[in-house]
Amino acid sequence: PKEYPMAMTPNDPGWNDLSGIKSGPRVNATFVTLARNSDIWEIARSIRQVEDRFNRRYNYDWVFLNDKPFDATFKKVTSSLVSGKTHYGEIPKEHWSFPPHIDQERAKKVREDMAQRKIIYGDSISYRHMCRFESGFFFRQELMMNYDYYWRVEPSVELFCDVHYDPFRFMHENNKKYSFVLSLYEYVETIPTLWDSVKKFMKNHPEHIVENNSMGFLSDDGGESYNHCHFWSNFEIGNLNWLRSQAYLDFFESLDQDGGFFYERWGDAPVHSIAAGLMLKKDEIHFFNDIAYYHVPFTHCPTGDKVRQELKCHCNPKDNFDWKGYSCTSRYFEINGLEKPEGWENQQD
Ligand code: GDP
Ligand code: MN
Repeated sequence: PKEYPMAMTPNDPGWNDLSGIKSGPRVNATFVTLARNSDIWEIARSIRQVEDRFNRRYNYDWVFLNDKPFDATFKKVTSSLVSGKTHYGEIPKEHWSFPPHIDQERAKKVREDMAQRKIIYGDSISYRHMCRFESGFFFRQELMMNYDYYWRVEPSVELFCDVHYDPFRFMHENNKKYSFVLSLYEYVETIPTLWDSVKKFMKNHPEHIVENNSMGFLSDDGGESYNHCHFWSNFEIGNLNWLRSQAYLDFFESLDQDGGFFYERWGDAPVHSIAAGLMLKKDEIHFFNDIAYYHVPFTHCPTGDKVRQELKCHCNPKDNFDWKGYSCTSRYFEINGLEKPEGWENQQD
């Protein structure tokens, strides 16, 4: 087959010749899913869509991670759906438990208090282990060390459009380190002191804060306070070597010492987002307008009639969250001086 440059718009050569796609340079990349055995049918749905819309033409690998051993059904069903190689890893205890410096009594009181206040997942221990694991450990699991890029996939997500080019290759060729499709404001009850911890880190590690960062996405007052904007991390395509860098590891270690994964309920979404916002250059963060995505309760449906038709999308453009009041994506466009896609004004409510 002929080799084409990445065809990202219908005007590019090779757009309709999907056979040419496979001959492009491959990237050392994998899908990655954290799941329980009981998630099998929900993750099966996600995999089927990722394969139909993209991976059946690329056959990238898929790494599955779990705090318990995967059972035979989980392995059988997922390996039959994935077109690439599948790998199954059990997470070491130290990456899924309370670190020794955590005061168990204090953590327990927090959970009871949050349960009373009906804060989502506020009473859950396993959810906190999950958030800490996704913040600090998934990228350094033994199986993940073999790869440079990852695409995170959760159970019960949907892809509504064809993915017409290789997003891993796009990340690599354009020096992108982190990407998103949806952004929004975090529930402040889950992270009341996160920004205090971040400020402490910035003071202790000024060498890790880059010039031309995205502070304007995170803060409305130059870093004094957090506006709670974050990229929604249940979808992520990113560079694993960045997460394994000294800068990111110092950041995670500093937050972990402060204990907010257990004394509050810090999510991996604000943690990754703040890291990307402060330690990556603005143009190392990418917004994929053309990857259509749903995770309950939000939809990213590409703005622009033409692109939706070309990509055979089946999402309702009215459901697109990007330009609504609770999304932070307008802010991302503004701080990057990007022009919003045509038609965005019609999707504001
Ligand atoms: P939400 O998206 O924030 O509502 O949280 P999810 O329930 O979707 O959990 C996020 C991800 O972590 C999903 O991929 C889940 O399958 C996974 N996950 C959550 N809790 C656990 C757990 O206790 N064990 C394992 N192995 N995976 C979990
Ligand atoms: Mn989820």
